[in-house]
Amino acid sequence: MELDAFRKSVDHWLDEHADELAPEYPGAGTLEQQMAQIAKVRRLAYDAGWARWGWPERVDGFGGSPLLRAYLSEAVTTRDLVEPGLYSMPEVLGPSVVTFARPELSAEMLPKLLRGDEVWCQGFSEPGTGSNLASLTCKAVRTDEGWRVTGQKVWTSLAQFSQRCVLLTRTGTIESAHKGITALFVDMDSPGITIRPIETMHGEPEFSEVFFDEMLVPFERTIGEEGEGWAFAMDLLPYERSTSLWQRAAHLHLRLRQLVETAQPGMLDPTALGEVTQLVYAFRARSRATQHRMAAGEELGAETSIDKVLLATAEQAVYDLAVEALPAELTIDDDPVSERWRKEFMYSRAATIYGGSAEIQRNIIARRLLDLGNDR
Ligand SMILES: Cc1cc2nc3c(=O)[nH]c(=O)nc-3n(C[C@H](O)[C@H](O)[C@H](O)COP(=O)(O)OP(=O)(O)OC[C@H]3O[C@@H](n4cnc5c(N)ncnc54)[C@H](O)[C@@H]3O)c2cc1C
Repeated sequence: MELDAFRKSVDHWLDEHADELAPEYPGAGTLEQQMAQIAKVRRLAYDAGWARWGWPERVDGFGGSPLLRAYLSEAVTTRDLVEPGLYSMPEVLGPSVVTFARPELSAEMLPKLLRGDEVWCQGFSEPGTGSNLASLTCKAVRTDEGWRVTGQKVWTSLAQFSQRCVLLTRTGTIESAHKGITALFVDMDSPGITIRPIETMHGEPEFSEVFFDEMLVPFERTIGEEGEGWAFAMDLLPYERSTSLWQRAAHLHLRLRQLVETAQPGMLDPTALGEVTQLVYAFRARSRATQHRMAAGEELGAETSIDKVLLATAEQAVYDLAVEALPAELTIDDDPVSERWRKEFMYSRAATIYGGSAEIQRNIIARRLLDLGNDR
């Protein structure tokens, strides 16, 4: 289907089903309410066919350009139907699982994710391993029955809601660094997993510590080959830093508009508003170009660090402006609208950390794009 026709059809469907799709809670809602809302929107969009466009036929998609699925994300965000970060998980994990996992595995699993029947999480970071991912220690040992996994992950978003985890494990020696890493597709109800949710600064237990104690993972659940985990991670991170962030521009635009509509006269500095608007549009323009590069079949790589820096800068600027323009909402008011501003302000601080910190993105830009040399 062509993008213009898809846009019109999706908009028409969203208008027709507006009541059914709308959240049943005021303001931001709790994490549980947001997750239930996302599952509902995914199911309705999948059953109506829209969520299958832009995904390959071999995973039960309808094919067509990835721009189609990007538009669906944008449209549901613009209508404020979903929390954009939580909604973006299939765009973070899906493309690389389709590329690396056995075709039978991705064909069986991806439709469950897209329809909202399942949630997946990303088990990369560990207590001693974030920016320096190649140092990870969560160990997978070959046995007659399959991989036996022992170790810990941390900051695993949505682990407590997840049926599956895309897990990076150490299958070589620690010295083998990035060469000794293997990716596994894990059932989260496997014996030996303990999940301990952690509350974020915005007051929701969005991520968790996850412990693995001799957990068994069948060999058929290896994503790619043994030792290909680094290649898998390097394929995935560019999606996490760029295309999965696309609909956040729509969200920031929506929130900026609401900020302008709500601010009392005199509370909004026009120069600051101009600067923030420019940052949101710069991010959107960059993100749009990246979506088009992906649609043209280009491989995404280090240049997606620019998208990530622009997103984090724009996001924090929007909520910094909200602090100035909506002081009561951001500090003392107790209604759901104010609570949402507060939660989103606090969450915006994470934008320079998740998906790789701002400093790391700037290192990548300096070294790999501008050839400015290594760390000193
Ligand atoms: C909201 C949120 C959700 C997350 N979800 C997930 C998830 O689902 N799955 C997952 O695996 N992880 C997740 N993470 C973890 C995230 O990927 C890591 O926090 C991030 O990669 C940074 O790693 P770290 O926390 O270990 O910090 P560190 O790597 O310890 O960094 C600490 C500080 O040192 C700086 N620093 C480190 N190395 C350098 C260097 N070489 N040069 C300059 N500065 C440096 C960093 O920029 C940072 O400011 C999430 C994080 C957040 C905030």
